[in-house]
Amino acid sequence: MTKIRIDGRRGEGGGQILRSSLALAAATGTPFEITNIRGGRKRPGLLRQHLTAVRAAAAVCGARIEGDEIGSSGVKFEPGEVRAGEYEFSVGTAGSAMLVLQTVLPPLLRAAGPSELRLGGGTHNPSAPAFEFLARTFAPMVGRMGGELALELVRPGFYPAGGGEVNVRIVPAVDPRPLVLEERGPEGRHVVEIGAAHLPAGIADREWKAVQRVLHWSPDARVDVDFSESRGPGNVLTIVLAHEHVTEVVTGFGAKGVPAERVARRAAGVAKRYLAARAPVGMHLADQLLVPMALLAGGHFDALPPSLHTTTNVDVVRMFLGDVVESEDLGRGDVRFSVRGRV
Ligand code: ATP
Repeated sequence: MTKIRIDGRRGEGGGQILRSSLALAAATGTPFEITNIRGGRKRPGLLRQHLTAVRAAAAVCGARIEGDEIGSSGVKFEPGEVRAGEYEFSVGTAGSAMLVLQTVLPPLLRAAGPSELRLGGGTHNPSAPAFEFLARTFAPMVGRMGGELALELVRPGFYPAGGGEVNVRIVPAVDPRPLVLEERGPEGRHVVEIGAAHLPAGIADREWKAVQRVLHWSPDARVDVDFSESRGPGNVLTIVLAHEHVTEVVTGFGAKGVPAERVARRAAGVAKRYLAARAPVGMHLADQLLVPMALLAGGHFDALPPSLHTTTNVDVVRMFLGDVVESEDLGRGDVRFSVRGRV
């Protein structure tokens, strides 16, 4: 099969182009070579999270790889057959274990049987899907595509201590269905979950008050989550916007030197804008749906204005599968993405 050559500086220029390429290569058996990995970043090359993703993708499809070293700017990947099974992938730092899952999920959804994964690393990282996003926003979409993704949080892992653990069960889509998502459907119960581990008391109260000032929800919308199992300090605020056809999860992360109020206000602002808009698929879900849809039965969804991650994923899908993604302007920046699936 002809090898695909990818310049990692394309589009978003970060880890996304690498992960999507790995997922598509493993699932389709297409070899590829990527150069200038994360060439658009200040510290280019493979970080621990990306290296774990490369090795994890190789493990699930018996790939031959070259260049799998920390800091490496180029990787060659020659996939074999996808194998369902039990796997353990640990990032070893606080790097996102959730992004390792994003890499191996598409091929495992095409495997001959179910898989069980034990993932170690960060479970709640800024700039990555948090555990709750994958469990509540993304996993139901996998179900609608005909597969199953079940996640269990064993221990949360925050930057910088890491040490998080997640168990995952993946059941392949034996009879894949097109994903069609044009409307949110009626609103369900919206909640704000606040988890703070090994931090001074009072953070949750301050965050809740700041959220209330923006969203004006009644006190029963507040849920305090016990994250005391975490190895190191961490704070995450999870705003869950439930609708019949889609649940959007907005996350805000506490960080040293950033007042709790600012973390909460920012997340509440994102939630408010989502609630005021129409399209069901938020910015992060959009980029994450494209690869599995293109590998399964396709479909279409209406999304809020696309991010660079989304346009980059459209580009990577095209490199591996041809012109299978179309986009239609719906006005006000919203876009309908239509994806022709492989099966
Ligand atoms: P780098 O860009 O430095 O290489 P990276 O590989 O860790 O970093 P990105 O390439 O930025 O990460 O990819 C981030 C992924 O995480 C994307 O799929 C994006 O949709 C998802 N993501 C980022 N923030 C959120 C969020 N708040 N909620 C859900 N998903 C998110």
